[in-house]
Amino acid sequence: MPTESTFLLAGLFLLLAAAGWALGRFGERDEEDTAPPLNIDYLKGLNFLLNEQTDQALEHFLAMVRVDDKTIETHFALGSLFRRRGEVDRAIRIHQNIIARPDLAAEQRDQALFSLAKDYLHAGLLDRAEKLFVRLSQGSRYQVQALENLCGIYEQEKDWEKAIDAGQELEMLGGRSLALQIAHYYCELAEAAAAANDFAGARRHVKKAQSGRPRTLRGALTRAHIARQSDDHKTALRLYQKIIDEHTYLIAEALPEIVATYEREGSTTGLDRALSSMLKKNPDMSALVAHTAIVNDIGGIPIIDQCVEQYILEEPTLAEFVDLQQMSADGADSRAEALVKVRSALSKLARATPRYQCQECGFSSQRLLWQCPSCRNWETQRPASRVQFETVLQHNITSH
Ligand SMILES: [Zn+2]
Repeated sequence: MPTESTFLLAGLFLLLAAAGWALGRFGERDEEDTAPPLNIDYLKGLNFLLNEQTDQALEHFLAMVRVDDKTIETHFALGSLFRRRGEVDRAIRIHQNIIARPDLAAEQRDQALFSLAKDYLHAGLLDRAEKLFVRLSQGSRYQVQALENLCGIYEQEKDWEKAIDAGQELEMLGGRSLALQIAHYYCELAEAAAAANDFAGARRHVKKAQSGRPRTLRGALTRAHIARQSDDHKTALRLYQKIIDEHTYLIAEALPEIVATYEREGSTTGLDRALSSMLKKNPDMSALVAHTAIVNDIGGIPIIDQCVEQYILEEPTLAEFVDLQQMSADGADSRAEALVKVRSALSKLARATPRYQCQECGFSSQRLLWQCPSCRNWETQRPASRVQFETVLQHNITSH
């Protein structure tokens, strides 16, 4: 099957043939009054295409149409079109061909290098792309774009030190704040240091993460995790508790940790008190507390159990299946028993559906991802505060 690229190259050969014919017809008619024969080169190129030999046709085109001031834009257009279509090898061939021209103007060389770097990026050749972007970041009109791409490459390579440098340089050049992004880079360094038992290093990095404005909420959570990992339970508890007091969405992450720490101490009264006081001031956090408890199987703490019960009673979809009013009329024991059953069913459903969703692009996942893998934005995921019945139903319908 001829591809779009085949048609594109065929179009180019025909255009060239037509241009050549027009030039010959009108430019040289004084010398000879007959139309010149169609150039054999064009026919050769078309022949490759008819035989679906796209690469040979491309090589033929590159040999036939030298890069000069008149044709360079056609070469660039062809290169970016191949890249957009995913035919990166061909795009690379075209851009390398442009760069090989010895008398290329500096601006055109930069444009070709930038295009080639993007080709490499598309092909997943990160080290080659990095080299070119570094060169362009050191003084060209692509400086800002090169640094943006470098940040993306270092994020993929998890080279956070280099990402910080590129981010800071970009901040100075681009005139926009990257504080949040850079704070996440520091948090990544802190987590890596903590995983290697370098707790002093981890604390140093997280301190830098928290010095930027706007602050990332992740800094507080990372600090608490570091304290827990270094067995400083008292500090961990204080820091997790602070997250509860701040009543942000990170309660979904902090609550299981805080419950585990309290349970280790044998008493959860402190947690009960802290949660009650937070919920008195922020009653709308009750659903998130309940959902977190359902997903993580947290029970036996009176204030959390109350949140779960309220959540079950107020869930409109559940009301269609379970007659909770009737259950209440049947007595306290049967009500408690029914609630346990509903809760356990909800827990299974909640675990089968994504817990976090990106507010920018909608990408969802079970675990909190600080950088969205789809739109690459930082800290755009938020936890669900109710079981996504629609998703479960949709999933069952589409899988049958
Ligand atoms: Zn996203």
